[in-house]
Amino acid sequence: MSTFSAPRGTYDLIPPDSAAFLAVREALAAGPRRAGYGYVETPGFEHVELFSRGVGESTDIVTKEMYTLTTKGGTHLALRPEGTASVLRAALQANLHRAGGLPVKLWYSGTYYRYERPQAGRYRHFSQVGAEAIGAEDPALDAELVILAADAYRSLGLTGVRLLLNSLGDPECRPAYRAALQEFLRGLDLDPDTLARVEINPLRVLDDKRESVQRQLVGAPLMRDHLCQACKEYHEGVRELLRAEGVAFEDDPRLVRGLDYYTRTTFEFVHDGLGAQSAVGGGGRYDGLSELIGGPPLPSVGWALGVDRTVLALRAEGVDPALPPGTRVFAVPLGEEARRALFTVVTELRRAGVPADFSFGGRGVKAAMKAANRSGARYAVVAGERDLAEGVVQVKDLDSGDQSPCPLDTVVAELRARLS
Ligand code: ATP
Ligand code: MG
Repeated sequence: MSTFSAPRGTYDLIPPDSAAFLAVREALAAGPRRAGYGYVETPGFEHVELFSRGVGESTDIVTKEMYTLTTKGGTHLALRPEGTASVLRAALQANLHRAGGLPVKLWYSGTYYRYERPQAGRYRHFSQVGAEAIGAEDPALDAELVILAADAYRSLGLTGVRLLLNSLGDPECRPAYRAALQEFLRGLDLDPDTLARVEINPLRVLDDKRESVQRQLVGAPLMRDHLCQACKEYHEGVRELLRAEGVAFEDDPRLVRGLDYYTRTTFEFVHDGLGAQSAVGGGGRYDGLSELIGGPPLPSVGWALGVDRTVLALRAEGVDPALPPGTRVFAVPLGEEARRALFTVVTELRRAGVPADFSFGGRGVKAAMKAANRSGARYAVVAGERDLAEGVVQVKDLDSGDQSPCPLDTVVAELRARLS
């Protein structure tokens, strides 16, 4: 191989597509940022045990999908497959839960790594924006997070995102349900792997995508018929708040996260234009996680939204996200003296907040004008020796083609005014 290519299951973000990706990431992060969530950033790798405990020994993420490594010093590390365990670890380590009032609200944005079978919308390196509210039990907090995510999708112009909602109960009511479900599942015709899962992680079986399994699950007991009074009231509280704020949802009694520390509210955002990889984001309550990784009881709720799949959803709907302005002014100098003068103009424009670019490399006027057009700029500023001798530059409107001289000393103010 004479050149390298990106590893399987990964892709590079390059212009112009990278601009939409960045806009999506920022739109997803905008909600938590304006709702009192502080920014947190954790390492790209952690001790393996954080994930095997915090995500769960019996999950696909831990058993099949984790990238693990042993350092030269003999430490077992894993590339982070998800964000929640790391963020909770960081909050506990920094004692954020003792520093001020609860909940501790944090948001993050980063890349995650899972050894998956690559396909459309499923990569080995992907991006998420996440938000976690740690240390409080309040239906309004669950509703806040759901609303922030729903509003983010809407702000991007997506209309095809559906919200699925369920409650997983709590340590009060789930054990009896779990036992009832196991009882039911043991009587089915299932393969050995799935039967093993019935014993370790029975709720996950409800989530099995295979038709042969789904067909047998028709009469399976559902958590919603086993919720205790407190869980029922909590869930009704969340649903009421969503209704009051005009956030549409569908009750999905089969929506699960199969781990014991997940409690009560669970939700997923799906998009029907994405084929099999339909989940664009998901989250829920994880009241038991803190204790599992050595912390005090800290009931918490959070979500993680997939940036890659949200970009695909926009593409599926044919929606272009609003992009921040790119280059507005492009300078085309003709000759050395003009290069000096226009380099100053470009620097001043940038300092004044106007995105501006410059024809580098001493190209001819034709190539430089082509670059100006390709840059997407509204105006080209062109100057040669004769212009400068008269103390002017030419300002060309690249949309209309109109061109007129403008004094060199006022061109920055003139362009700012025209572009505002
Ligand atoms: P799936 O059921 O599709 O595997 P998941 O339950 O593993 O999703 P989460 O761990 O809840 O997903 O992650 C939250 C979001 O991150 C998902 O809704 C999805 O948008 C995105 N995501 C998860 N895994 C991948 C991946 N391998 N490639 C791209 N995006 C992903
Ligand atoms: Mg997955």
